[in-house]
This record gives sequence, C-alpha cells and structure tokens, in this order.
Amino acid sequence: MYDQNLWDGILESISKTEDKTLVNTWLRPAKISADRGDVVTIFVKNKFFKDWIEKSYLAKIKMILATEFGIDTNVRVVAENIAPAATKPIKSEETPAVSEPLKSFEAKYTFDNFVNGDSNGFAHSAALAVADGNFSVYNPLYIYGSTGLGKTHLMYAIANRVREKFPKMTILCMDSETFTKEVLNTFRKGDYDNMQERVEKLRERFRVDLFMLDDIQFLKGREKTLETFFNIFNDLHLRQKQMVITSDKSPQEINMEERMRSRFASGFQTEIQPPSSEERAAILMQKAEEFKIPLDDEMAFYLAENVAATNIRELEGALNRVNIYASFNKVKITPELAEKALSDSGQLKRSKLIVSPQQLISAVAELYNVKLSDLTSKKRTQSVVRPRQVAMYLMKERLNLSLKEIGSHFGGRDHSTVKYAVDSIKEQIKDDEYLAGIVEKIVKRAF
Ligand code: ADP
Ligand code: MG
Repeated sequence: MYDQNLWDGILESISKTEDKTLVNTWLRPAKISADRGDVVTIFVKNKFFKDWIEKSYLAKIKMILATEFGIDTNVRVVAENIAPAATKPIKSEETPAVSEPLKSFEAKYTFDNFVNGDSNGFAHSAALAVADGNFSVYNPLYIYGSTGLGKTHLMYAIANRVREKFPKMTILCMDSETFTKEVLNTFRKGDYDNMQERVEKLRERFRVDLFMLDDIQFLKGREKTLETFFNIFNDLHLRQKQMVITSDKSPQEINMEERMRSRFASGFQTEIQPPSSEERAAILMQKAEEFKIPLDDEMAFYLAENVAATNIRELEGALNRVNIYASFNKVKITPELAEKALSDSGQLKRSKLIVSPQQLISAVAELYNVKLSDLTSKKRTQSVVRPRQVAMYLMKERLNLSLKEIGSHFGGRDHSTVKYAVDSIKEQIKDDEYLAGIVEKIVKRAF
C-alpha cells in the first residue's frame, strides 16, 4: 500500500530546505510504501528519476524519516513505469508523414561521440531517455544553452538512436529556418484553394512520431510561422507524439506568446552549461580520436586551458587549425607549435602569449609617450622615473624575471633599485586608481 500522508509529510519537510520547484518536479510524482516494516520503498517512474533522486535527495529523505517519523530503516528507490504507455514506441501506422534521410553531418552526431560531464549531464540523460523510448515522460524535451555547446549534436544523436532502435517510427528534424521556409512556401503555393486546406496539409506533413525543431528562437516574430507551429505542436501533443526543441534561451526567457511558453514549460527543460577545462580536454581527446589527430593527453589539457574559446565549436576549430599546421609542416603538435598556429588568428588566450621584456618595455613607453631610449637609460628626469618603475613592476609580476635581469634592461641598475621600484608600485597601485588604470591598459596592450 502506498502511504500518501507519509509522502506528503516528507515533501513538506524537504521543501523547507530544498528548491520547491525541483521538489515538485522530482519528488511529487513519486509514491512511497512503508508497510513492509523493514524497508521503505519509493516508487518512481523510471531510471532517470531513480538516479536523480538517489543522488540528490535520498540522504535527506532518510534523515527526515528517522528524525521526524521515527522510521529508521533502509530506504530504496525503485523505478517502475507509473505512466503505462511511457516505454512503448508509438505506433506509426496512421501517420502519413515519412522520415527524411539524415544528411551526412547529421548522421555523425551520435551518443557515442558525445562527451558528457557536469555541464551537460542532465541534458544528455534526458536525451538518452527519450532516445531509449521514454516518449511521453519528457514531452516536449526542451534543451537550451548558448551556441556551440552541443544542442544540435544531442538532437541528431536522438534521431540516430531512435532510427536504430525503432525503425518504424517516423522522424523529422529541422532547424527553424527550414521550418519557416516550408511554412511560407506552402502558404505561397496556389495549389490549395483555401487556408484551412493548406494548414491541414502542413499538419499532415509534420505528423510524425518524433518531431524535432532546432533553434526555436529563430521562429520568433514571424506570426504566421508561429501560429502554424503552435498548430502543429498541439496536433502532435494531442496524438502523444514526442517532440524535442532546442533554443538558446529557457522557455521562460524566450520571446514568444505566453501560451507557447507554458506549453514548452509543461514538458521537460534542461540547460547545457559551458564546459569546464577538464570537460574541454575530454572533448578534445574525443575529437582527436574521431578525426585521427595525433594529440596526447598533455597537449589536450594544454589546449583546453589556453585556447580562447567560449564554446565547443570554437575549440574544435582551434584543434583543426593546429592539426593542419602540424601536418603541413610535418611536425609534432607541441605547445610552441600551437602558439604559432593560433596566435595570429586570435585563437589563443591573450595572456598566454609569450611576451618579451622588450615588447613590454615598448608598450610602457608607448602608453606614457616617452622615448624608449630614455626609458632604458639612467636618466632621472621626472617624466621617465615613474614609467620605468611601472615597467620594472610588470616585468616582475607578469614575466617573473629576476631583479638582476630586470636591472640589466635599464642600463644595469642594481637589484635593490629594482626591488624598490617594484615594491613601491605594488603599494601605490592599491589606492591609486589612475595608476591601476594605466597598468591595466599596458597589460591589455602587451599581453
Ligand atoms: P549548438 O547546437 O548548441 O550550437 P552543436 O551541437 O552544433 O552546438 O555543437 C557544436 C560542435 O561541438 C559540434 O561539432 C559538436 O559535435 C561538438 N560538441 C558539442 N558538445 C559536445 C560534446 N559534449 N561532446 C562532443 N562534441 C561536442
Ligand atoms: Mg545548433
């Protein structure tokens, strides 16, 4: 027997410390059974929920049971199909629409070559769950995140897997631009006499078992397209067909009518975050393997740290460039080579570029508008003393040169003079905003 009162009590208690929306999403639909005496069982709809609850809530639930209900026993989470139709593939006989063959690049996007980690783990699991046939649970599945983080990759990974596992299902994946074009074209054609017929024709066209629309943010602002999309969406929803939508914004943030947003929010939404440097390295290794690029682990970590990339597409671009550079020159991929290959195109983090002491001194001279030769001389005129001290300070802080070496660039000054300069700028910069601003400008220019 399920014990709803007990479950409500636990939910109430857990909501005091945990995010209520998340509790409602993850825990509210579950059921609890505590009448076996020795063990308490929580029933959830599938493995995805089970894993998540075990990871995030199980310890707390145990504690609440023990402290508030005096039930100090084992608690287990069991996945059962609460939604009976959930794992069955949808019948496709009534659907006249057909799957379209995937283009070659689309076929390459699979789960096998998708690296999952903290930044995308959630989206990955949900996509996998859909691809494995949990169709009505995550409907629509809405994946969002900035550009180049793997949304399209996941979408086609679902398509590829569903094709393999459920060959009878009809699938349609398209980006929103293509969708818009199709809709407009249909409306423009004169073959159908009235509007109603045309809309019905479109509905038929999109009446597939799995419909995926990429980058839905590009649908915004085009009224006819939006209306048609809403129509198609409702039609598919009513027929319990699976939908997957990607976007650069969450349903809450997307610029669309409220009825659309609430429809999206009614399904399952998940965000992909930018990858950490470990994840970037793992992705680089995966790409290197896939494209047969000789890249050792150390180099993968080096690139993960030093490439100026905000997303994975840029990271891949940098790897390709380094590879072309290396194979063209018939040399190994090393940090030095990567710097050569990437610095001109601005694909390397600026601060990682090797700056020579001369370049730094020139940048200081330029910014303070003093002659380079005066700066490096022993002159003690007011106008060069300060710039010289700043240059010494930056050579210590940024280039990590020894005091003696720094002195040698300024007519062989002894190390105590250099130390005095470095220390005094370090001190002054703390409350002198003007000085701090100048130093920042030099750094930007030189590094
Ligand atoms: P988005 O659609 O979010 O703009 P894409 O799916 O087009 O991004 O991904 C950009 C590139 O990065 C693709 O080549 C894709 O294969 C790759 N990529 C993104 N995420 C991953 C990942 N987790 N593992 C492997 N490759 C990835
Ligand atoms: Mg995309």
